[in-house]
Formats: sequence, structure tokens, C-alpha cells
Amino acid sequence: MKLHYIANQHIAPASGQDIPVIDPSSGEQFDAIARGNAADIDQAVQAAREAFNGDWGRLTATERGRLLQRLSQHMLAHIDELAAIESRDCGKPTTLARGDVTAVARYFEFYAGAADKLMGETIPFYNGHTVFTLREPFGVTGHVIPWNYPLQIFGRSVAASLAVGNACVVKPAEDACLSILRVAEMATEVGFPAGALNIVTGYGHEAGDLLVRHPGVDHVSFTGSPRVGQLVVQAAAGHHAPVTLELGGKSPQIIFGDADMDAMTTVVTNAIVQNAGQTCSAGSRALVHRPVYEAVVERLAKSFAATRTGPASMDLNCGPLIRESQMQRVRSFVELAKSDGLPIAAQGQLVPEAPQGGFYQVPTLIRDVPIEHRIAQEEIFGPVLAITPFDDEDHAVELANGTEYGLAAALWTQDGGRQLRMARRLQSGQVFVNNYGAGGGIELPFGGVKASGHGREKGFEALYSFTTLKTVTIKHG
Ligand code: NAD
Repeated sequence: MKLHYIANQHIAPASGQDIPVIDPSSGEQFDAIARGNAADIDQAVQAAREAFNGDWGRLTATERGRLLQRLSQHMLAHIDELAAIESRDCGKPTTLARGDVTAVARYFEFYAGAADKLMGETIPFYNGHTVFTLREPFGVTGHVIPWNYPLQIFGRSVAASLAVGNACVVKPAEDACLSILRVAEMATEVGFPAGALNIVTGYGHEAGDLLVRHPGVDHVSFTGSPRVGQLVVQAAAGHHAPVTLELGGKSPQIIFGDADMDAMTTVVTNAIVQNAGQTCSAGSRALVHRPVYEAVVERLAKSFAATRTGPASMDLNCGPLIRESQMQRVRSFVELAKSDGLPIAAQGQLVPEAPQGGFYQVPTLIRDVPIEHRIAQEEIFGPVLAITPFDDEDHAVELANGTEYGLAAALWTQDGGRQLRMARRLQSGQVFVNNYGAGGGIELPFGGVKASGHGREKGFEALYSFTTLKTVTIKHG
């Protein structure tokens, strides 16, 4: 069993209990993690507080940045090991898992450089006064991480929080946390003081809930589903802890006839097939201008039919889903589409090598989906793309904004005026034009509106999310 990692040590769970770790590619158990409870969370929060008040808190911003940079390099030096862990634990094709390791290293590199560049302001005020602001860490930050991109999401929230001087307690997802446990060991290996970074594994309704409602946690960063996001806000409100919420999406790809159709086809397919569609910003809806609707459906159908799905180790377009219940859920959406008479325009192929017990769902393209249908409204979190035609710009905006979500959107058009007009009208935390995802975009602020959450992570903006602003007003005559 893999133990918690608290104050630079492996710590057995107070419950004595474990949780099985399942390989999504085969459905077989290959490890176990500790089942965290209140005593474990208490111990981790206390260790973080001691670090904040002690060795970690005493470091200068430059010294913190150097440690983050060392960890970044250490992770890259162990890319094979970390990618193998992530690939097996999440069922990620190996190329994708390697990309995730590169990304987490880049988060630590970016925030290493940013650590000593966060500054306050001096503010003009009455004569005889000097006013300035200080950007200060909260103290102890709690991080609840999902299973779809464990390393990347750990990197984007924890690296930013550490950079500004907080001490962190992390509760990774019960379905995939092995890579995060290994990175915590690596932090010790490169010299992080005890307690700066602590990991408690366990179930969300137990360890996760206990972490976010713990009065010793000064700020919460939650990435996960909108339903749990609401529970987290309620729990954190008990001690007035601010919460950054990175939630789900139903992100539209808006396609006009003047788009570069080859580039669009590749990117739109990948935006929903990558990570088996288990991406918060997956492009799960294609909205297509009616005059080119049939041509675009045909192109995407060809592209979907060519995808190959199989075990992570085969490194195909699409791996398995994370767990059996997720596979059943995604399948139930495909069945719903069929029973409601929505045409399945194409499906990918499952390779014969895929083990029987794995959690596979081939990429599926569903056409003519009305905006009010559940397939167009709900986050399926699988490789399922819904296509809907639109008549003009106004109609495209109405459809794009017509769900409860607002995480990401893409415009595929060469018309500069249309790009600018529409980018402003889309209710979305980010808008991509003639691209999607921008290659990870560590430097770019990221977050949602509406049910997709609030607050921003990534980029320099995250440093504001993980600090509190103090205004100092001095009357000196
Ligand atoms: P989830 O909400 O079920 O779980 C996320 C995390 O929350 C896990 O660590 C889980 O153990 C924990 N958790 C569960 N119940 C909890 C509780 N009551 N209190 C505290 N923590 C609790 O989500 P999931 O199914 O693991 O992940 C998929 C969801 O995450 C999707 O909606 C997806 O869009 C979203 N997501 C969003 C982003 C983003 O950046 N916006 C990124 C990745 C995933």
C-alpha cells in the first residue's frame, strides 16, 4: 500500500484501511492507497502550519523559486518513471502521459521564475501619508485534485501556491494519485523543508470533505465536478475560507465555412478524443454553419472512424475511461442518443488487443443534436462529440452560450471582424481562435464562468488567487 506523505515522511493511515488502485486498461488491481480520515488530515494541516511558521516560511521568495526550479528539473530527469506511473494509473496513452510530465515540470519552472516578481503598489493618498500594498500568502492552502490530469492539475495549483509562500495539503483523487505521491517524495529529494507539501489520499466525501472544512486551511483550490464544487464552497464557508473553483464544461467549437478545414478537423477531433474525452475543457460540441454542415460532418466522421482505442501502453488515439462506472455513464449517453433517434455519424475502432476487463468506449460522433437535448447540455466526460447546425452569428452565439457551463470555446473562421465580435459575446473563461488548448498554455490564465467555476489558475494571475492583499497606510506628517 502507498502511504500518505506528510512532513517529508511516509505515514500510515490512522484508519489502517486502504483503497484498491485499478488499472483502467485491464480492470485489474495493481496497488492500494491509504484511506485518509480526520486524524490524517489534522496531522497534515498541522505539519503545513508548522512549515509556514518555520523553515518554509522563513525562505525568501528567490529561495522558494530555486527550490521549485530544482523540482522541475528533477521531474524532467525522471520523465520515464513519472510518465509510466501516470499512464498506468489513469489509463493514459504514453505520449499523453509524457506530455503531462513535461507540463507539470513547466508549471514549476514558470512559477519558480515568478516567485520573486510578485509586487505590491504604492498608492497616492492624502499629504503626509504613505500607502502601500503587500501581497501575502494565505498560510495553509488545501488542494483537491481530480483524476483526469493528476500531475498537470497538481502542478498548476500547488506550484503557484508554493511560489508565493503557502504550505500545501493536497487530497488527490482516489482513482489516480500515485504520480502526485511520487512528486512529493521528489520535493524532499531536492530539499523542500518538511511540511511545505503534504499529501493525504482517500475518498472525497471523507478526506476531501475533512480537508476543505478544516479550520486550519486558509484557502481552498478545488478542481472537479460542479456538484462537488457546491459542497466544497459550503464546507469551506464554515470557516470563511476563500475557494477557487475549476469545474466542468460543455465547450463549443464554432465552425464557419472559411475555416482551414484540415486544421479544424484534426484539432476538433483531438479536443474530444484526447484523454478519452475526460478533459474539463474537452470540445464536446461542434456548432457548424448550415451551408457547410454536411461537408463538416463528413470530414469529422472520417476522422472519428480512423481513431483507434486500446490500452494505455499501446499509445493510441484513445485509452480507456478511468473506471467502470464512468464507462457505464458514457455508454448510457450513447444509448440515450440512439433511443431518441439521434444519428450516430461515426464511431472509432477498438483494437483486438484491448483486454476484456478494461473500461473502453470508442470515440462517437452524434449529429443533428438539438440544443435542449441532454447530449448537448450535460458534461458526458467521454469521447462523445455532439454536432448541431447554426444559421448565422447570432444563432451560433445563442447555441454556444446555451448551456449552464462557460469554460472554453473555439472559433474557426478567417474573418477578423467575426473573430473579434464573437470572442466578446461568448460566455466563456477562454476563447480560442483557429486553435484549441494552445498547447497547454501554462502562461495563460485559465478558469470558468457560470457552472464552470470562478477564480483563475495558470499564468501570473494564479499568484493573485493564492495571495491576500494587505493595505498599509502610514501617517507620518
Ligand atoms: P469529482 O468532483 O467527483 O472529484 C474531484 C475531487 O474531489 C476528487 O479528489 C474527489 O475525491 C474529491 N471530492 C469528492 N467529493 C468531495 C467532497 N464532498 N468534498 C471534498 N472533496 C470531494 O470530479 P471527478 O469526477 O473526479 O472529475 C471530473 C470533473 O472535474 C468534471 O466535471 C471535470 O470537468 C472537472 N474538471 C475540471 C477542470 C478544470 O480545470 N475546470 C479540470 C479537470 C476536471
